[in-house]
Amino acid sequence: MTGYLHSIETMGAVDGPGIRTVVFMQGCFARCIYCHNPDTWKLNGGKVYEANEIVKIAKRYKPYYGKDGGVTFSGGEPLLQGEFITECMKALKKEGINSIIDTSGTYFDEHTAYAIEQAQMIILDIKHWDAKLFKEITSISQKNLLKIIEIINKKEKPVWIRQVIVPGINDTENNIKRLNEFIKNIKNIENIELLGYHNLGEAKWEKLNLKYRLKGTPQMDPKKLEKLNNLLNFPTREMLMHLEK
Ligand code: SF4
Repeated sequence: MTGYLHSIETMGAVDGPGIRTVVFMQGCFARCIYCHNPDTWKLNGGKVYEANEIVKIAKRYKPYYGKDGGVTFSGGEPLLQGEFITECMKALKKEGINSIIDTSGTYFDEHTAYAIEQAQMIILDIKHWDAKLFKEITSISQKNLLKIIEIINKKEKPVWIRQVIVPGINDTENNIKRLNEFIKNIKNIENIELLGYHNLGEAKWEKLNLKYRLKGTPQMDPKKLEKLNNLLNFPTREMLMHLEK
């Protein structure tokens, strides 16, 4: 079976615990207004890989994974190729390599539950708790996210939550309060990260002749981001790393 890939990062350190091989899948139906990788949107715009090629690459880096590391399927939207990543994850499991799915929760089909079943953990990038703003940011209905949360809960998968904080859109204390409420519906949250908006993707939009709607939006102030992080009811990645030392 083959899948469309954007790229592979062999020694990733931020997309899940430990050292990870990050497989960036090609294709995404969302059109997030701050997307850093609009070049991943077109499904057949990437390179074609066989599932066993992914396993071969991951096996090469296995010595670096330690007890926590492994493979992360990111994107684009990895659930768009749910059948392919399920096959990869099953084969990786046979080699003793764990897998994570890093999803925006914007896509759902008959393969989604099988894919989530195979992952040892999910990174869930929640674009917004408010259904109307979710649609404005992503162009997709929030119903897909709710279905995916239901599956994650049913399968009792651990979750890392992420949200990009954009000045003027969701950089308020009220947003964090409501986000805290929203994620109470997710059972096994292990940590949560707020990521500051930056405009490094803007040049890619221009290169693709796309209109960047956030033109002129300032980068997120790190001090304000820290303040918002402190309002979260769940441990942040930084707090966990501090505790582990
Ligand atoms: S879900 Fe991710 S890849 Fe897709 S448009 Fe949004 S930010 Fe870009």
